[in-house]
Amino acid sequence: MIRVLLVEDDRGISDPLARALRREGYTVDVHDTGLSALEAAKARPDLVVLDLGLPDIDGLEVCRRLRADGRTMPVLILTARADELDAVVGLDAGADDYVTKPFRVAELLARVRALLRRNVGESTDEHQGALRLDAEARRAYFEGEEVPLTAKEFDLLRVLVREQGRVVTREQLMREVWDTEWFGSTKTLDMHISVLRRKLGDDVAHPRFISTVRGLGFRFERPQQ
Ligand code: CA
Repeated sequence: MIRVLLVEDDRGISDPLARALRREGYTVDVHDTGLSALEAAKARPDLVVLDLGLPDIDGLEVCRRLRADGRTMPVLILTARADELDAVVGLDAGADDYVTKPFRVAELLARVRALLRRNVGESTDEHQGALRLDAEARRAYFEGEEVPLTAKEFDLLRVLVREQGRVVTREQLMREVWDTEWFGSTKTLDMHISVLRRKLGDDVAHPRFISTVRGLGFRFERPQQ
C-alpha cells in the first residue's frame, strides 16, 4: 500500500486531488497545516505532496524540517506563483519536483508516479537486477527465491535500495530504521549489515550489493548492466 501525505490548506484543491490520488489506489492522508503535516510525516508516508503557502509554517520550512529529521521520501511541491518556484529552486529546501498551480490532475499524477518509481515500489524488479523487494508484503527475493529477512533487516535493505548509488550515512540509517538519534556505537547496524550481506551472498571484499564507505556509511550499488 502506497501512502501519500497531502499538505494543502485549500479544500478546493485538496478535495479533488485526494480523490484523484485515491482513485489511483494510494492511501491519502490530508493535512492543512505545516505542523500537523510534520507530525503526520513521522508515520513515514511514501511521498509528500506539499503546498508552499500554508497558514502556519510555509511549505519550504516543512520540507527543510523533513530533511533535517532524516526523512528521505520524495517531496512534490505545489507552487502558486513563478517567484515561489524560483525560491524553491534557489533555497534548495530538499524538494524533488515542483508543479505550478493551476495544474492538470493528470500531470500531477504522472509526476507522483515518476517519483515513486524512482524510490521503491513495483518497478524495483527492473532496477535491482537479481534482487526484488516487495514493499507491500515486506519480502525480498533474490534470483526468484525469497530471502527470509527480519523486519529490521527488510527496513534496512529498503532504505539502502531506495538510495541506491548514493551513500547512506550511519546516522540516517539509525534514524530511519531504528528511529533513534545515534551518537554512540553502531554495532547493531554493523551486525544487521553483515547478516544482510550473508543472506544476499554478498562478498565484503568485492561487494555486488552493499559497499562500506569508510567513515560515512553504506552504499547500495546500482546493478551492473
Ligand atoms: Ca495554500
